[in-house]
Amino acid sequence: MVHLLGDLEFRENTMATKTNLYNLTRDEMESFVLSLGEPRFRTKQIWHWLYRPLVTSFEEMGNLPKALREKLAEHATLGTLTEVAEIHSTDGHTQKWLLDLPDHEKIEAVLMEYDVRNTACISVQVGCAYACAFCATGRMGLIRNLEAGEIVSQIVHVERELRRDGPPEGDHALTNIVFMGMGEPLANYNDTIKAVTILNDHEGLNIGARRMTLSTVGLVPAIRRLAEENIQVNLAVSLHSPIDEIRSELVPINRQYPIAELMDAVRQYIATTGRRITFEYAMINEVNDTPEQAHALGRLIRGMLAHVNLIPLNPVPGSPWPASDPKRIDEFVGILRSYGVNATVRMRRGIDVAAGCGQLYAAVEGRGRSIVPISDYPSKDAVDQVVRQRIHQGKVL
Ligand code: SF4
Repeated sequence: MVHLLGDLEFRENTMATKTNLYNLTRDEMESFVLSLGEPRFRTKQIWHWLYRPLVTSFEEMGNLPKALREKLAEHATLGTLTEVAEIHSTDGHTQKWLLDLPDHEKIEAVLMEYDVRNTACISVQVGCAYACAFCATGRMGLIRNLEAGEIVSQIVHVERELRRDGPPEGDHALTNIVFMGMGEPLANYNDTIKAVTILNDHEGLNIGARRMTLSTVGLVPAIRRLAEENIQVNLAVSLHSPIDEIRSELVPINRQYPIAELMDAVRQYIATTGRRITFEYAMINEVNDTPEQAHALGRLIRGMLAHVNLIPLNPVPGSPWPASDPKRIDEFVGILRSYGVNATVRMRRGIDVAAGCGQLYAAVEGRGRSIVPISDYPSKDAVDQVVRQRIHQGKVL
């Protein structure tokens, strides 16, 4: 799962290109330090600077000799992501960034601050191959996978933002991470799991695996593989309909892994891990919110160690589908509960900041298979918001 590079491999890598330190597990960091001809104990010091004070330069690593700091600058980078755009919801609780990668591809990261929770929603790919019908990222196609370090750097970015208000009480101010931004986590399996390992490291950010949720569109072989990993992350499955014909329209991968197969994998996951599954269900008016589908869903998952999150759809421009009417959602919840199924309705947080994954990217970059002019996207209020708020580098204004 995690590849420990040998000294020689590190030297070859660093000759060709600098090593992004956020890409390394602590074991890999030790190999890197040794490959530089430095003593093993430097690993702990460098790791500390990366994940506790979250330094932005090697010069700030005060307890390292100057020669080592210069060596690091020659052979390594800190992989910091640059903000292209930053927008805030009108309620002040949600913040979203478009971040620039070293090859100038862009990804989104979101921070939601509600009650005692600070939750980051981060990306694992640039774009996505799965083309879900209601998703702005799905319109882009897959551009590339993120490296583990690019996933970790999003968390470092969000954590730095939270610390503007003061130092955290423990090792981190973030309380939860959801891998529900751009891309499918289980399609970038190795780097996603490696990022979880790095973020979970007890000498680093030390974010509990149980505080992290991987979201999947239903990649059956990867769910089975995840069940066998010895990590305590949560799994959320995007279901969106209990009926194959409808789910295949909304989530095309359903044609490859239909609901019966998906449920087999989910049952194996629960049996192996003993962990509860979350089913995500985007509520679309008169499409997947009918009483018949509520009954079918109730029958499908009753008795299962599972929870259903019902989320009124975040509308994507050009889509004919509106969010479900609140009355229809209430009725849907009532039917699910009659089967003993746990269900909650999740607020559409950040609706006015294009919080649906891929929406800010589309607004700023204007790229994808179905380009919508920013003046139409995603609503007048949201566009006004984009324009009013702080936009870096003149990309929009
Ligand atoms: S919903 Fe997720 S899996 Fe589907 S297209 Fe969007 S990013 Fe990809």
